[in-house]
Amino acid sequence: GNQSRVQAIYQITNREVKPFNSPKRLEEMWAKDVFTLSKMQECLPKDVFKSLQKTIQTGEPLDLSIADVVATAMRDWAISKKALYYAHVFYPLTNSTAEKHDGFVSVQGDGSVISEFAGKVLVKGEPDGSSFPNGGIRSTFEARGYTAWDVTSPAYVMETDNGVTLCIPTVFVSWTGEALDKKTPLLRSNAALNKSARKVLELLGHTDIAPINSSCGAEQEYFLVDANFAHSRPDLLLAGRTLFGRPSAKGQEFDDHYFGAIPERVQVFMQDVEESMYRLGIPAKTRHNEVAPGQFELAPFFESANVATDHQQLTMTILRKMAKKHGFLCLLHEKPFAGINGSGKHVNWSVGNATQGNLLDPGDTPHSNAQFLLFCGAIIRGVHKFGPLMRAVVATASNDHRLGANEAPPAIMSVYLGSQLEDVFEQIRTGEIKGSQLAQTMNIGIDTLPVIPKDPGDRNRTSPFAFTGNRFEFRAVGSSQSVAGPLVAMNTILADSLQWIAEKLEAELNQGTELNDAIQKVLQEIMEKHGAVVFGGNGYSDEWHKMAVEERGLANLPTTADALPSLRYKEVEELFDRMGVLSPVELESRFEVYAEQYILSLEVEAKLVVSMAKTTIYPAAINYLSKLTSTMASLNNVGIKLDTTAIEKIATLVNQLMIEVEKLSEALGKEDFADTEAHMKYFAQTILPMMNEVRKYADALEGEVDDELWPLPTYQEMLFIK
Ligand code: ADP
Ligand code: MG
Repeated sequence: GNQSRVQAIYQITNREVKPFNSPKRLEEMWAKDVFTLSKMQECLPKDVFKSLQKTIQTGEPLDLSIADVVATAMRDWAISKKALYYAHVFYPLTNSTAEKHDGFVSVQGDGSVISEFAGKVLVKGEPDGSSFPNGGIRSTFEARGYTAWDVTSPAYVMETDNGVTLCIPTVFVSWTGEALDKKTPLLRSNAALNKSARKVLELLGHTDIAPINSSCGAEQEYFLVDANFAHSRPDLLLAGRTLFGRPSAKGQEFDDHYFGAIPERVQVFMQDVEESMYRLGIPAKTRHNEVAPGQFELAPFFESANVATDHQQLTMTILRKMAKKHGFLCLLHEKPFAGINGSGKHVNWSVGNATQGNLLDPGDTPHSNAQFLLFCGAIIRGVHKFGPLMRAVVATASNDHRLGANEAPPAIMSVYLGSQLEDVFEQIRTGEIKGSQLAQTMNIGIDTLPVIPKDPGDRNRTSPFAFTGNRFEFRAVGSSQSVAGPLVAMNTILADSLQWIAEKLEAELNQGTELNDAIQKVLQEIMEKHGAVVFGGNGYSDEWHKMAVEERGLANLPTTADALPSLRYKEVEELFDRMGVLSPVELESRFEVYAEQYILSLEVEAKLVVSMAKTTIYPAAINYLSKLTSTMASLNNVGIKLDTTAIEKIATLVNQLMIEVEKLSEALGKEDFADTEAHMKYFAQTILPMMNEVRKYADALEGEVDDELWPLPTYQEMLFIK
């Protein structure tokens, strides 16, 4: 029965709250656990440090000739932090973080022991990668994988299951050089972006151009549920979301009594999370404004995309670990509770360098405005040409619940610019620059473009991809996702468009066209061909869904089964190949892995639905029926008749529940699929609706069965009791 529920509530309400730690000064914590550049400078010979610094700037692999010296310094630092182990940390295609641990200890010929950490270990490690998905790459090439330190991301120490461990962020590639991870293409996409952005800047007359890099600031939403409740919910533990559960009467229309302040427990948790992050040099900035009950958000300041991505992975790890320590389960799932706002991860993205600054910043002069418009136009072109790709990189079984659910952006990719910038681009499109909303008269020449406002002022929460003053915000990314995939897509489509722009400009200039006229021409062509992707209205509305598809020819890809196949489009394959980001083989392997993951996660959920319905919900309902009928019989004996409506209703629901369970169970037995795409479609179109049918009857029963007999912690309990 519900004993575990009662026990959970007892434990939660009688727990001792962990006291607040007295707050430490930021300088006391900041990057304490990171082998930072300045620490390296302190302990490395000058020439070695110089060489390393250069490697970091170019992003090239570590030079073997200095690797030993660097490794020794790194080891000594780690040992001073009490580390006994080191781990190559890498990012497989699963959205998770993987570690390969080894001890520093090395047994000598004479039986003595020394701590050893050779340079070649930094340059190449051999994880047993066989258990990581590779989409057939390794069998194709019969090659094992290896990991190598990404020198642009610093090493750090962290408490792991093994004790204190030196963690080294690495790429994970096959011996034949194919990427098996998420970091490798991200580094390549930055390189591609650097190359084509540089060309455009050169054409604009810049001579001093520092390396160009992308930046990322990712806002992470998450839920906290008390571990005592979570342990009685196999769906939360195994699928990360509730597969059953009647929306709580309060739902999101909570009242202040429940929802005014963050419980002290959660505040103490947040403080611990922040401290861990600061020690690891992650510029966290917790925010306490949550949309749904039990939901919170954490956003760091933005950093270079590569480091931000590693830090984002660490952030998810820290949230989960720290939650455990504090008696919570941290849910990073995009939709843990039906009917309650889901969780996303807004990815704020910009590009820039040390000499020209943020290239998505409108700037103050017409010249910098022209530059800004070119970069912005390049993005418009990219999102229009590769909308389905943008949808594919946020496609997971869990994120499908969120996209298009009128709380998150729709599954149609469009670009929001804000009304003033949209107006400028619209004038460029029509070629009739006749004065903007700023009431400035304009001629065609870029010199007379209006000053573009720094703050677009208006915000549009319904857009998947919005310009927010000096960056774009990709809002369709899921809360449990690695940000690497979305960043790779954005960097690559931008690199591609900038290259196209550079070629166009060059051709015009060679014909003797003035630079400003050439820019104007290119922008006009972009807007003519790709302006359809710019949309400033309500992205949730039915009109938009109709207009986007029917009038503007944009793709609406509601499920992962619809979206992932776009990774196989010829133009997408050519894009990644041309930009040197993913070879056709690497891209195909990604399709296979992500498709497999989609199918697998739905299969796990469907099987759980069957087993929970049969072994948890059905018995509870039957138990209640038997209680009711025996009471009825006893009453009958003393001449009182109990109305049977309730009993009949419950019995009917129970029967319907079991009919749907049988249907689902049988449907899960199907095995003969033409191909992966058909297999995905089957889960999206057949299995998922059947799971929802089962849930419908189970949730109805939750509203009928005696609360004392109901075995699963309720929404009300999980969301409101802390
Ligand atoms: P909001 O909640 O309004 O979307 P926040 O200020 O909470 O905005 O989060 C914005 C995120 O964007 C932060 O991580 C911030 O560091 C990041 N950000 C700000 N400027 C840039 C930029 N130029 N490039 C990338 N990210 C940025
Ligand atoms: Mg945001």
